[in-house]
Amino acid sequence: TAPATLVAPAALFGAGRTNSTGFDLTDEATLARIEVARAVTPPDAAPITVSAPAGVARAVLNPATGAAVAQVTEADAATVARAIADARVWTAAPAERAAALRRAADLYEAEFGPIFATLGREAGKSLPDAVGELREAVDFLRYYAAEGEAQAGAPRGIVTAISPWNFPLAIFTGQIAAALMAGNAVLAKPAEQTPLIAAIAVRLLHRAGVPASALQLLPGDGATVGAALTSDARIGGVVFTGSTETARIIARAMAANMAPGTPLIAETGGLNAMIVDSTALPEQAVRDIVASSFRSAGQRCSALRCLYVQQDIAPQLIEMIKGAMDQLGVGDPWHLSTDVGPVIDAEAQEGITAYLAQNSDRVLHRRAAPADGHFIAPTLMQVTGIADLGREIFGPVLHVATFRNRDLPQVIADINARGFGLTFGLHTRIDSRVQEVTSAVHAGNIYVNRNQIGAVVGSQPFGGEGLSGTGPKAGGPLYLARFYAPEPVEAVP
Ligand code: GLU
Repeated sequence: TAPATLVAPAALFGAGRTNSTGFDLTDEATLARIEVARAVTPPDAAPITVSAPAGVARAVLNPATGAAVAQVTEADAATVARAIADARVWTAAPAERAAALRRAADLYEAEFGPIFATLGREAGKSLPDAVGELREAVDFLRYYAAEGEAQAGAPRGIVTAISPWNFPLAIFTGQIAAALMAGNAVLAKPAEQTPLIAAIAVRLLHRAGVPASALQLLPGDGATVGAALTSDARIGGVVFTGSTETARIIARAMAANMAPGTPLIAETGGLNAMIVDSTALPEQAVRDIVASSFRSAGQRCSALRCLYVQQDIAPQLIEMIKGAMDQLGVGDPWHLSTDVGPVIDAEAQEGITAYLAQNSDRVLHRRAAPADGHFIAPTLMQVTGIADLGREIFGPVLHVATFRNRDLPQVIADINARGFGLTFGLHTRIDSRVQEVTSAVHAGNIYVNRNQIGAVVGSQPFGGEGLSGTGPKAGGPLYLARFYAPEPVEAVP
């Protein structure tokens, strides 16, 4: 079989290139600013003060080392109740709200050093991933500001925003920016693992002119803060990104306690597939497969979980994937040569490790990972199809299956049968097949002849269907509309 010869990982993942945010990671002065920020961040971010500090203290841990980065005082039920009572919709004119969000975008960019440092230390983000995340956050602020200037409408009232640790700045900011732009008051609960970056973001939003009564940060866990924020009749809407299971819990709590019609905007999990047929360009397919599976250590909802390769090219392509995996830098997320950092915490690491142990007979290829910290070695597993996958494994684990040309309709049926519908990838050079496959697969974001991660705000709205979410898609024109109160129902004369 042909040996894998591929581009170096740094080029693969874009390190050392200037991106659209303008950060050049080869520039000495930029790196020096980030390094200084890393040395001093985030002593003043701890403890995070909520409107009335109470509740338990939780240590924030560095995923790469397990070491405590800060102590955070979490909100308790009484604090949440006070925050709801203190919340006020943002009555400034739309143009003023837009101006504040744009000022926040500028402040985010100016504060790139502490932001990158915190994303690295608290979330285990590699530098290229941190750069991409800041860009996305800034894009959300500017995009919803522009969208909201053109839309008139009344706020829903108080919106609960519950965000995940995997994009603790971008998704956190996107939810808040949309809700605020529509004039709502926002109660933001960041993931337990990533309150520090949330505290930085809220500080910058306040500094930009968002009133403290319109945006309150409530760090804490789902059982206390999340439950209180999703079961109070005074809440006018909930925006959530996380697991399908948690979305179901939230939907039940809302149905039991809130006015019928209170919206839940949920973006949840996926079991994302890619199909590579025998006409695909192997080098490009392999580059896109590796980026889709292993970038962000596989901790994206959009990540590729099950790859289908047409039988004729499977032996060659799988050898190339193994070769590309061997090129990945696995380790300290801070080093520019690192492509795959740690998974978020000990629990994630234990869960994935147990899955790999239970399915060790399926392992085709496995890299080594650092012994300290919460690392999972990038792993390739053989399956017969997507039906072999249990739950979504949220880490650097790729499953590969092969298919015969005549079985393609069955492959698509199997993918659809799982009920998720977030991302899907297709590599082919047959035009009619693009049409045939992409119209048959149920998925919110479909990518052809490229990777299937990293949707761009404004041009690639992101969101799924079925078990993957409610829509509307984030970063798209319909999202903001959901945060306004519906027009009053007219009486029939
Ligand atoms: N928007 C991200 C992407 O396109 C994924 C967001 C998520 O993981 O929740 O890769």
